[in-house]
Order: sequence, then structure tokens, then C-alpha cells
Amino acid sequence: MTESPDIIVVGAGVFGLTSALELARRGHSVVVVDPGPIPHPLAASTDISKVVRMEYGKDVQYMEMVEQALPGFRAWNRQFGEPLYHETGVTMFTRQPMAPGQFEYESFHLLKARGHDPQRLQARELQERFPAWSEAYVDGFFHAEGGYVESGRLIAALAREARSLGIEFVEAKATRVGDGTVSLSEGDSLSGGLVLVAAGTWSHLLVPELAPMMRSTGHPVFHLEARDPDLFSPPAFGTFMADVAGTGWYGFPYNPRERVIKVANHGLGLRLHPERDARRVYPDDIESLRSFLAMAFPALADARVVYTRRCVYCDTLDEHFWIDRHPEKPRLAVATGGSGHGMKFAPVLGPLIADAIEGVANPWLERFRWRPLDAATRGEEAARHRA
Ligand SMILES: Cc1cc2nc3c(=O)[nH]c(=O)nc-3n(C[C@H](O)[C@H](O)[C@H](O)COP(=O)(O)OP(=O)(O)OC[C@H]3O[C@@H](n4cnc5c(N)ncnc54)[C@H](O)[C@@H]3O)c2cc1C
Repeated sequence: MTESPDIIVVGAGVFGLTSALELARRGHSVVVVDPGPIPHPLAASTDISKVVRMEYGKDVQYMEMVEQALPGFRAWNRQFGEPLYHETGVTMFTRQPMAPGQFEYESFHLLKARGHDPQRLQARELQERFPAWSEAYVDGFFHAEGGYVESGRLIAALAREARSLGIEFVEAKATRVGDGTVSLSEGDSLSGGLVLVAAGTWSHLLVPELAPMMRSTGHPVFHLEARDPDLFSPPAFGTFMADVAGTGWYGFPYNPRERVIKVANHGLGLRLHPERDARRVYPDDIESLRSFLAMAFPALADARVVYTRRCVYCDTLDEHFWIDRHPEKPRLAVATGGSGHGMKFAPVLGPLIADAIEGVANPWLERFRWRPLDAATRGEEAARHRA
């Protein structure tokens, strides 16, 4: 293995792998440390689908970042020779007429202002076009740009590409990181020009000074059997958010590969320790799922739950990513804080993180810098349900 690589990346999720690939392309020697297998079964990046949406309320930066990410997803589909990103379009529907200040309203108008073409749908028109939805939903829009990515398969493809570029992988767990050094579970240690901690929700265990600014929160994910897959497949059904800022509910069309419909909740979640606590889905979670389905999708009201999962966010207190060099340790940097919405930026994450490491000016980095957050800090991600 390379004696003293320029960069040691700890963590092979989407933050770690995209930055390893970009740094290698910029000529750095890179080693990735992850206990594996990759994709790791407990990693947030490992999933059958993640939403790819431009819609972020009034937030111009995140919309702009996804505008620039979409061509990257389409290019990966061509490069990897399989549709990992599915452009099903997204539907954002509400039970009240859209109004100023509301996530859907602000997203709709910012899309328009930036030259996109969301189609507003109201009442009967909505049910005619998307018949799975109940009449409880009276307003909202369909936006053709967007959909979902098969994130676990994308991670596997990126890891293959990284190996093909000569990036070395050390299948071990980092037990401690220092200024350019990494101690490994097997007792060995590595040292390099710089260590990049991209260990997702485990990052603050390796860099304890991050702990006051972020926390691990577990979120229920449900996979349902579909008696009528066509009703829940494009063009009759897209990747959806249902009054998401008010309820947290969102989901995906029928997944032909996995033969399930995935529904999840983008709420506050359960605080937990990423290693010690069980990641269970409780009867209460199933009960709230049932009442949502009965209200929104009558055809799924009594659908069988095939399996569930509690997946863990690395939640910064303001819900913005954490991408920066360490203020006191010149050979340490951090890229984490996905806060439940990082995957959709995958094609632009690598260059963004590499810019932070190389000190290249990038206007997007300002909000992700090392920053003081405390108990008074409020979450700012527009789609997040906080109640
Ligand atoms: C339930 C859920 C739903 C989500 N839905 C969406 C969505 O719809 N759209 C979207 O854009 N985003 C979504 N996200 C967010 C997105 O998945 C994350 O922001 C992103 O995957 C985080 O990537 P990561 O690389 O930071 O962390 P991870 O993917 O968790 O990767 C961290 C890696 O670090 C490794 N690691 C940990 N500790 C160590 C150690 N000590 N030594 C070595 N390696 C270590 C792990 O093995 C793992 O491979 C969701 C997340 C969750 C949990």
C-alpha cells in the first residue's frame, strides 16, 4: 500500500467516495478506510432509493446545486451502463391550497423563476392524472426534472470506479484520527498528508469536538407490497412528497427490482447512538404509517409491510452539511452532516469537498464551513418536518 498517501479518506459512503474520486482525478494519491462491505449495510447511503429533487422552498443554493447535479446523474447512467438514477419526476401535493410561506408554494414559484416548468394540478385534475392519490389532496404540482437514485447500487458503482482508478481500500475501522494519522482496529496506523473524516453519523465519534454541533437521529423506512404495481408506477405515479414540511411523509414509485413501494418520514426522528442503540421500527411507527396511507393512498391502506428499516441521519443542528478543514489541525478535514438530504448532491459533492481541502474558492462552501452551533440553532432545511 502507498506508504504515506496524500489523502486518507475515512468512510466509503457518498461523501467519502465522491471526494476520493475527485481528489484522485486532481492528482492526489488516495487511500480509503472503511470496515466494509461497501456499500456498508448500516450506512445512510445504502438504500434502494433516495429522492432527487430541486425543490427546497425559497432556498436558491440547494436548488442550484441540484440543477448542476442532474446532468451528473444522467452521465453516470451512461457511464455505468445502467439506470441508477430514475427521472420519474416528482409530485408535491398538499391537502390545503398552496399559499405563500408554504414549502410547496415557495418551491413552485422559485422553480418558475429559475426557468423550470412545474405543472400545477388541483382537485379533480390531480386525481385524474395521478389516480392513486385520495381526494384529500387538492393542490400542488408535478415537476418532470427529478426522481430517485438507487443509492446503494450507485455506491457500489463508485467504489468499482475508485478501484479502477487505483484508489486503495483498507477494510478496517478507524478507532482514532489525529493530525494526519489514523489508528485502525487491527492495531496498525496510517499517516498521510491529510485525513478526511467522511464517516457519516459516526463522524463525531472520531472527531469529538463535532459532537455539540450534530447528532444521530434514526428515521423509519417502510417497504410495502403492491397489489396493483401499475397504479404506483410512472407515468401514473412519481417520486412524491405529501405535505412533507407539515407531515414528513414522502416516498417512491413501485420499485420493479425490489418489488416494493418505499415510504418514509422526513421528521425529527429518534435520537440514538450510532453504535450502541438498536435501530428498530416500533408499532407506533407502523400505526402512523397506516393512518397516512389510509388518508393518502386508499389502495395501500392495508398493504403488507414487507420489511422496515431505521436509517440514521448525521443531523447538524442547522441541517446544513459540514465540509471544512479542521480549525486547529492542519492535516485533518471533515465532510459529513448529510442531515437526511445529502444523496441528491452526489455528482457535485466530490468537487465541493475537494475545493474545501485544496482551499479553492467555492461560493457554495460558505454555509458548510466549521461554524458555532448551539441549543438556540434552528433547523433550516425547507422540507423537514419539525413537530
Ligand atoms: C432514512 C434516510 C433517508 C434519506 N433519504 C434521502 C433522500 O431521499 N434524498 C437525499 O438526497 N438524501 C437522503 N438521505 C441522506 C443521505 O442518505 C445522506 O446524507 C448520505 O448518504 C450521507 O452519506 P455519508 O457518506 O455522509 O454517510 P454514510 O453513507 O453513512 O457513510 C459513512 C461510511 O463511513 C463508514 N465508517 C463509519 N465509521 C467508520 C470508522 N470508524 N472507520 C472507517 N469507516 C467508518 C461506514 O462504514 C460508512 O460506509 C437519507 C438518509 C437516511 C438515513
